[in-house]
Amino acid sequence: MTDPPSASHSADVPQFTVGETVRMRKAHPCGADTWTVTRVGGDVGLRCTGCGRRIFLARRELARRLHAQHRAGAVGPD
Ligand SMILES: [Zn+2]
Repeated sequence: MTDPPSASHSADVPQFTVGETVRMRKAHPCGADTWTVTRVGGDVGLRCTGCGRRIFLARRELARRLHAQHRAGAVGPD
């Protein structure tokens, strides 16, 4: 009866929330560089805020494509 808090099993994989807006390193051809999270799970569903295109990316892959820190707080060497 001692479930550890969800800390160990996915420490290196960032968590995303439906409705959250994330920013990619590279802008979409339509010009927008922000995406809205539409689904989370094994893959993360994203919708381009510019053209509405939907894509799915593995969480790990998405993390790689995101701007250094998509959440407020840390300032990366940008
Ligand atoms: Zn787009």
